[in-house]
Amino acid sequence: HSLKNARKALDNEPLLRFREAKKVLGDVYGELKDNVAELEAVYGEIKDEKIVASEQRQEVEAIRDSIKTIMDTFQRDNMKVVFFGRTSNGKSTTINAMLHEKVLPQGMGHTTCCFLQVQGCDEEKGYLQLDDNEDKKLEMEMLSKIGDALSNENEDLPAMGQDSLLKIFHPKQTETGENRLLQNDVVILDSPGVDLSPEFDGWIDKHCLDADVFVLVSNAESTLTQAEKNFFLRVSKKLSKPNVFILNNRWDASAADMDNIESVKKQHLTRFRQFLVDELEVCNEREVNDRIFFVSAREVLEARLKARGIITRNYQADGHGTRALEFQNFERHFEQCISKSAIHTKFEAHNRRAHEMIGKMRTNLNTVLTSAAEQRTNLQNTLNENTRLFNECRVNFSTFEKAYREQTERLRAEVHLKVSADFFE
Ligand code: GDP
Repeated sequence: HSLKNARKALDNEPLLRFREAKKVLGDVYGELKDNVAELEAVYGEIKDEKIVASEQRQEVEAIRDSIKTIMDTFQRDNMKVVFFGRTSNGKSTTINAMLHEKVLPQGMGHTTCCFLQVQGCDEEKGYLQLDDNEDKKLEMEMLSKIGDALSNENEDLPAMGQDSLLKIFHPKQTETGENRLLQNDVVILDSPGVDLSPEFDGWIDKHCLDADVFVLVSNAESTLTQAEKNFFLRVSKKLSKPNVFILNNRWDASAADMDNIESVKKQHLTRFRQFLVDELEVCNEREVNDRIFFVSAREVLEARLKARGIITRNYQADGHGTRALEFQNFERHFEQCISKSAIHTKFEAHNRRAHEMIGKMRTNLNTVLTSAAEQRTNLQNTLNENTRLFNECRVNFSTFEKAYREQTERLRAEVHLKVSADFFE
């Protein structure tokens, strides 16, 4: 019953599944590590190369090293989502809304010129790190300068190429509350606008091959541009069946402007469905319903900031309740999707490797046991031979002893006879 409840809880909290999977895998590898250490110790005590050959010793050492490497890697594994779209469609606002905090700089005049990666840290104060300089921490205040497209003229700062990466380490726990996504190993990547004539292939190779989910933030007031489409066409060529969500952002503005809002929504839906199902072929007619959402990131962000007491007044347009529910609906599907994909792609390989290693260890141990059995048979044969020789000697000896005794008796009798004869003569 409690297992059922635990499962239910995990179904409601898909992000926890990833951590749970990490924990289970950690236990499996921990046990494997202990077993290998034990085997190594046993092999260490057996000096006879005929029983434990160097090939078997080396294999155990290699398995021990791979276990260590894998344990180090999967502790760092995470769930990664990449956001794309044209400049000012609301990517940063959407990310901030999902984080319930203004982590990324947003707004008119601010254009992200490089990739910004948000991830959680345990420190109380957040910091920045340039991808090619892992040892140097930069003050969070530099963010608006480095990330800004116009700041490349600033001589104090490194010139950031469009495909370079700036990591933002944000505290998992802040004064205003905990950060659920960051706490559960979700890493969020914001990209430069696709309208900045980018090198898509370079972007994808450098930043997207390990992404679990892509979110296209589109502007509900216009249709998808060819640049936006091209990017995803390249992604679906390089990754097999990527998980793509489309957020029709700024739906508040459209809804306020248009009388025929439902028919506009229908048109958008038809076009996006066609794009995901027919052009990208990343989902089927049934799945696509949980991939397209009409939202207002600004409304959601402001409502969440207000709930945390960070702002006092929040922006809301007509119909905000429906859009807020739609945003939550997106988050629910997003969390289920990212957790499933990350567990599948990141942990299944480790799980397979663990099975392979167990198989190798079994063969290794069998080889050693076979050699030991052979040695035992050899020893037994030698022992048998020695016993046979010993017994033969004993038989020979007793025959000799008997003959000797008879002879002695005979001689003694003869001497006796001779002595008595002499005496009576
Ligand atoms: P980015 O360049 O895609 O990261 O876009 P930003 O997140 O910086 O957003 C650009 C501007 O659009 C900001 O001033 C936001 O406040 C505004 N914005 C973002 N989302 C919405 C929305 O859903 N509705 C409205 N009305 N404005 C929005």
